[in-house]
Amino acid sequence: MMRIVIKVGTSTLAHASGKLNIRRVEELCKVISDLKNAGHEIVLVSSGAIGMGVGKLNLGARPSDMPTKQAAAAVGQCELMYTYDKLFSEYGHIVAQILVTGDDIANRERRGHFINTMDRLIGLGALPVVNENDTVATAEIAVGDNDTLAAIVASSIGAGLLILLSDIDGLYSADPKKDKNAQLISVVENIDDDIRALAGGAGSSLGTGGMATKLRAAELCAQSGVDMIIANGAQPEILYDIIKGEGRYTLFKGKK
Ligand code: GLU
Repeated sequence: MMRIVIKVGTSTLAHASGKLNIRRVEELCKVISDLKNAGHEIVLVSSGAIGMGVGKLNLGARPSDMPTKQAAAAVGQCELMYTYDKLFSEYGHIVAQILVTGDDIANRERRGHFINTMDRLIGLGALPVVNENDTVATAEIAVGDNDTLAAIVASSIGAGLLILLSDIDGLYSADPKKDKNAQLISVVENIDDDIRALAGGAGSSLGTGGMATKLRAAELCAQSGVDMIIANGAQPEILYDIIKGEGRYTLFKGKK
């Protein structure tokens, strides 16, 4: 049995409109509930607050100004937790909301409280759902993206594995949208300049990630001895395959 952090990106949770991808999220909550029932300790790092706020407020596109972004996050975070609470409750699981900023992680005392609370929640059998506290996190104090946040969470709580669910199968030898000969890289033992060069920039229009933040997360995990996987969240059942060591994804080995 493993302690696993699963990070879901906005592109997995929401349609391009920002509205909830109901089928996807229902499937995800079902699989995670099942993994918990099987005895795994799971922590969810969930994006989607801003994206879902955009959908709920009918803003049309992700706002660029800070007050609207923070307002959208405040609305969307409620929607997110309401959805998780409802769906996980159906399978008898209890969710707990944890919102942190980069400042909280950098501060030794607050980081200590964060780790203690996470341990206690896991001990109580609850499912912590972590996000950046976007309503107060401005650039100076923000972690900035949830791939990095998930890596910080995974290494802080001694997880054995971090799984980043995204809209891509993993790291490719070239951009698969442009090059049809691009090959999925199944294992990365060492993150060197050649690997870094494979990470392009942009993510989806509603989220903030992309491959660059995922590689940064992989480096953080590697240093802390945590294995990290990038997999496609389109079919949440892939989580079963990952646990069995099967399926299509990229594994970044943590330094042991
Ligand atoms: N914290 C942001 C949100 O919930 C997402 C950050 C990210 O996509 O990395 O909308």
